[in-house]
Amino acid sequence: MSTLRFHAIKDTFNRPVVDVKEPARRSEIFGQNVFNDAAMRQYLTKDSFKSIKGAIENGSKIDRSVADHISTGMKEWAIAKGATHYTHWFQPLTGTTAEKHDAFFETTEDGAIEKFGGGQLVQQEPDASSFPNGGIRNTFEARGYTAWDPTSPAFIYGTTLCIPTVFVSYTGEALDNKTPLLRALQTIDSAATAVAKYFDKNVTKVNPTLGWEQEYFLIDKALAKSRPDINLAGRTLLGHSSAKGQQLDDHYFGSIPKRALDYMRDLETECMLLGIPVKTRHNEVAPNQFELAPIFEETNLAVDHNSLLMDVMSKVADRHNFKVLFHEKPFSGINGSGKHNNWSLATNTGVNLLSPGSTPMKNLQFLTFFINTIKAVNEYEELLRAAIASASNDHRLGANEAPPAIISVFIGSQLTNVLDALEKVKNGKLSPEDKTDLKLNVVGKIPEILLDNTDRNRTSPFAFTGNKFEFRAVGSTANCAKPMTVLNAIVAQQLMKFKVQVDGLIKDKKMKKDDAIFNVLREYIKDSKRIRFEGDGYGEAWEKEAAKRGLSNNKTTPVALKEQVSKKTIKLYEDLGIMSKVEIEARHEIEQEEYAMHIQIEARILGDIARNHVIPTAIRYQNILIENVQGLKDIYGKDFKNLAGEQMRLIEAISGHIENINKDITSMIDARKKANKIDDAEKRAISYCDDIKPYFETIRYHCDKLELLVDDELWPLTKYRELLFTR
Ligand code: ADP
Ligand code: MG
Repeated sequence: MSTLRFHAIKDTFNRPVVDVKEPARRSEIFGQNVFNDAAMRQYLTKDSFKSIKGAIENGSKIDRSVADHISTGMKEWAIAKGATHYTHWFQPLTGTTAEKHDAFFETTEDGAIEKFGGGQLVQQEPDASSFPNGGIRNTFEARGYTAWDPTSPAFIYGTTLCIPTVFVSYTGEALDNKTPLLRALQTIDSAATAVAKYFDKNVTKVNPTLGWEQEYFLIDKALAKSRPDINLAGRTLLGHSSAKGQQLDDHYFGSIPKRALDYMRDLETECMLLGIPVKTRHNEVAPNQFELAPIFEETNLAVDHNSLLMDVMSKVADRHNFKVLFHEKPFSGINGSGKHNNWSLATNTGVNLLSPGSTPMKNLQFLTFFINTIKAVNEYEELLRAAIASASNDHRLGANEAPPAIISVFIGSQLTNVLDALEKVKNGKLSPEDKTDLKLNVVGKIPEILLDNTDRNRTSPFAFTGNKFEFRAVGSTANCAKPMTVLNAIVAQQLMKFKVQVDGLIKDKKMKKDDAIFNVLREYIKDSKRIRFEGDGYGEAWEKEAAKRGLSNNKTTPVALKEQVSKKTIKLYEDLGIMSKVEIEARHEIEQEEYAMHIQIEARILGDIARNHVIPTAIRYQNILIENVQGLKDIYGKDFKNLAGEQMRLIEAISGHIENINKDITSMIDARKKANKIDDAEKRAISYCDDIKPYFETIRYHCDKLELLVDDELWPLTKYRELLFTR
């Protein structure tokens, strides 16, 4: 095994420079492999084009005969671009993307043709029995179907035409991440449009926008393969920290290493062809950690683009002899990775509803959406926490790394002052003087550009950053659909309540519209004070304070997930038509199961590495020491102890660590056996979390100690310094 380590290191020294071809202008290739407006205009009849645009913009149905036209146009376009196959591309609850390729090719009586009918475009039946469904589908009807989502354009990847689809069971329950997301997006569209009409009658549609920032690690492929834990779990389960880590910040502030830059250039060209508008790339804090961010897009498309990107990233990495680590915490002792979700609301009239404006009226609109969002987060902080819970994200949230497991909102000092002033708005109708004062001194004083002032806090899980909210607690492996479903659903519900209250004051109390709005907002500011936190987002002091405020602090996934099946959540989703109780409970079970399996797999890997790699190596080294001591004794007789004292202490220390490792692995296996007997998915997950996971720390501790004692030449596992600093 140690030979594998040294072979791997040697491989990295001989990496050839990968040839990277970039277009002179990215704009010229942008979206070339996407069935976008330009392609549709070329390949579709006017009527088909109109029909598909109608479906995208107003959700109107596409006629079956029109679908036949569209599929034919799509096929011709795809074949002209070299595609031979098509697939329904969807996002099952495993968190990745799934596809099953079918050739366009079909035989006929007198030969063969390329065929792709409307039926094949609109609906497919993948063999779905192996995707998780949480008991929704009985085994005898293990069937679900995928249905075309025209709001996300088809694209070609490699030689396959990929058609974004939803994945639902025969009885209509969602089996994927996209279906509830689309329902939440529709809901917030109508709720936000109704409120936006208070300020501008021309608003007929509101699109939630999403700009994600993807953090990741790049490790040489051979080094990654030399570690069973990275290979199977995507993270290191043991390994002593490197003498040099991120202390000097030299990676963050240094230039992007050449090999990584070549990878990024290649990756970004692929992104351009696929219409993923990537814009920013930079080094992150930890060695070999990087970030990539696009220009924000409409949420459904942005979610699809992030899923697609993660897939493309892994494929391009292979060409560059890298492995991408998306895990939230691949290495202990240095920073982990997140995926900030920047979110806002954009109207069809081109206005960002979370952007302060140049007039008091525009600012009242801004404040309305701003304060409603804070109120929604306040009411559903625990559900937001649940939406980002996963075994891997537990290593960040609540593990002394920003952001914490407590959801709070950061808004910056300027907006804090504005909300403080608004809190003093008079109850009931406002006098003309009150209004002038408000407009001049409060609402009128919000500067149009808030960006610089508000972005200073870096630790808040949910921060307002000038013209958008940034949900920072999302994990780097996450599918953005989950947090985006929750965020859009809770804000939608909040905006509906707001509309009812404002309309009520206008009708029953005969208030003017802006009086009514001010009055409702004032109450919201008071109600949601506890969620606002401007301090450093982690540490014991904040935990105490948050507990006093009644905020949840769910540090582990099995506990955090519970909120997904609370009465309150079920009511929210059922009221808004986003998910039924059956769908919610099925999803919950899948996630609890997934958690237990995750920990189970890691426990098995750790047991294997510790028992079959670490202990035998330690014994081999111990034997060398024993031989040495024996030799000294042979030569020096009874004086040998003066010369062999250190060796003997080492022999004993090694035995001590081996004993501890063995003892803990045995106990861990026993705990697993017990946990596996638990039928209830939630209880089993809790047992894996409380009874099994704690052994990871102690086993690792002794293995890492052995790493420091054993001869480097013998050590089989590629070390942290090699993983992080070999380029
Ligand atoms: P950082 O957070 O690293 O300082 P920026 O604040 O410049 O970076 O932007 C981060 C992300 O925010 C980008 O992906 C950008 O597209 C996105 N973003 C900017 N405006 C909006 C918006 N109105 N809605 C959604 N995302 C946005
Ligand atoms: Mg950011």
